[in-house]
Amino acid sequence: MELENLKGVGPKTLEALHKLEIYTIDDLINYYPYRYQILKPEKLTNTDMVLTIVGKIENTPKVVYIKRNLNRLTFRFITNEKIINVTLFNRGFLKDQLAIGQDLTLTGKYNAKTNSFVASDIRLKKIEDTLIEPKYHLIKEIKNNLFLKLIDEAMKNYEGITDYIPQTLSESYHFLSKDSALKEIHKPTNMQLLKKAQLKFIYEELFIFTFKINYLKYKNSLEHDFLKRTNQKQLIETFINDLPFTLTFDQQTAIDDILQDFIHPKRMNRLILGDVGSGKTIVAFTAMYANYLDNYQSVLMVPTEILAKQHYENIKNLFSKYSLNIKLLIGNMQKSEKQQILEDVKNHKIDILIGTHAVLNEELEFANLGLVITDEQHRFGVNQRNNLQNKGQKVDVIYLSATPIPRTYALTLYGDMDTSIIKTKPKGRKEVVTEIKKESELKEVLFKVLEEIKAGHQVYVVAPSILDSEGMEIENVDSLKEKFTKAFKGIVKIGILHGKQKAKDKDNVLQDFANKKYNILISTTVIEIGIDVGNATMMIIFNAERFGLATLHQLRGRVGRSSLTSYCYLISNYEKERLQVLKESNDGFYISQKDFELRGEGDLFGSKQSGDMSFKIANVQRDYKILLQAKKDSDIYLKSLLAGKTFNNFYNEIMKKIDFID
Ligand code: ADP
Ligand code: MG
Repeated sequence: MELENLKGVGPKTLEALHKLEIYTIDDLINYYPYRYQILKPEKLTNTDMVLTIVGKIENTPKVVYIKRNLNRLTFRFITNEKIINVTLFNRGFLKDQLAIGQDLTLTGKYNAKTNSFVASDIRLKKIEDTLIEPKYHLIKEIKNNLFLKLIDEAMKNYEGITDYIPQTLSESYHFLSKDSALKEIHKPTNMQLLKKAQLKFIYEELFIFTFKINYLKYKNSLEHDFLKRTNQKQLIETFINDLPFTLTFDQQTAIDDILQDFIHPKRMNRLILGDVGSGKTIVAFTAMYANYLDNYQSVLMVPTEILAKQHYENIKNLFSKYSLNIKLLIGNMQKSEKQQILEDVKNHKIDILIGTHAVLNEELEFANLGLVITDEQHRFGVNQRNNLQNKGQKVDVIYLSATPIPRTYALTLYGDMDTSIIKTKPKGRKEVVTEIKKESELKEVLFKVLEEIKAGHQVYVVAPSILDSEGMEIENVDSLKEKFTKAFKGIVKIGILHGKQKAKDKDNVLQDFANKKYNILISTTVIEIGIDVGNATMMIIFNAERFGLATLHQLRGRVGRSSLTSYCYLISNYEKERLQVLKESNDGFYISQKDFELRGEGDLFGSKQSGDMSFKIANVQRDYKILLQAKKDSDIYLKSLLAGKTFNNFYNEIMKKIDFID
């Protein structure tokens, strides 16, 4: 059955479901609640706490319209204890559904003095014992109640669903069947069964994930045919000695690892993990140089045009004395220009290509691709990564990532890759001085801004993206621009950067900022990734409480990129304790660990951080033990499949869900 044929799904709802990336009944059923609300009838007591009570309506409910957007629904209500007066605001529309004698469950606060109960929530039935209500991440067009109805309908109409946990494992762990688990997850009977259902889905998700990784590892181990490589140690050393700085120990080690991989009879599949500002770029550039010396082409894919351009400028400078041919390929380019690049890549007139996902263009064919590098790897889905890798046979692959995950996680999650970790920061770096300020202290901060600008330095101002009533992201950079323009009346030049601008405008603004045409750059988090302007020494982040610590740390990484002392002001009226972590530390690994401790989860595995690791129900930190077990199980299982030659069936089944390996 198609989603649009489901009872209750009209064109509007269908469109809304698509926004949630729900396209089929299967998608709908597999859209799990993110939390559950537990309701239990309580005794009527005069506390400041929210209570849930049950009872019956005693008189005909009345509605009073107070203002255009304000009405009050009132009635008397019989509870076990006594008759009370109930008030609900803005629920006038419920009047016709309420009658004398009707059972209700109400949630709200009771005031014994006035014998009145102000309810914030109402259910048109009496709950007997405990009610476990699923809550879904939804949008304005689909409320929780409608969604529950749709799930209900879907559960009646779906045609069985594949269980990806092999039967033997399912039996030995006494997991619920997939059907019962689905029922429990959306309509829990009790806490115990709900926990069992969750466990099953968490395990299933992690099993599939680790199976993929084990499979990729196995596949890599089968390859025997490799690119011909030489060891050009001398030339590479000369190149490194010519750099304007000395490499850190970890940078050198990462480069050594890469050079080893090149000559090792194995396809390179290496992750370079390093905190922001640890200097991963030069490692990548050196690898591309080595690849060039072996007469192969390299491609570097990055998530944004801004970053692509920046890398392009840097690498051109770096190799200005060399005869490498370097080109930039982005979506926003003249057709003829693009065509020329496609042709030149095909004829090996280009040695190094830098680009956004435009480099995934099907028409792009390399003459002799040897090395693929993805920067800010965590921003890409695995599919995209794999496409690129398939552009050449046997190509070596490097991923750069700033996701500060502890080593043990990295080894498990990136189990199919070899890992180099860059921990040491370049010499002479000072820690970014970080202060937390209330909005009322802004004046003080603005004086500091003025000081920095007078010293010839530049300042980033970051505004969070906020949601408008449509649920669309809008940016309030404009209001900040007003504020700053007013504060510095004509003394400073201000640039504006946000995600809704045309790529060309973004590039111009950034280029102008790098060329010091602006003193201040006001932007949204688009600057979070990768941008490198050494003269920028101050960052002010508004509404800092809206961000995860890992994101704040990434943002802050835009300053402190030279030997100048840099400052970061976190403006927030709330959450001092969490933000304090950033004041204490400049170490991304420590910060993400702390964020986890303080919030129960970090944002490093949040959907935004990890294109390839966004789990629906599993939480890698919370469920780490399950992850380890699933990894072990899937490894044994893969081996038994391979030995028993039943591999193809299972493989095909599992691949329907796992679409990233060819
Ligand atoms: P990230 O790891 O965040 O990508 P980058 O590669 O952009 O960091 O490096 C940050 C800055 O540090 C760049 O301006 C780069 O030129 C500089 N840099 C990199 N390595 C060193 C080093 N060993 N010594 C001094 N500066 C360095
Ligand atoms: Mg970088």
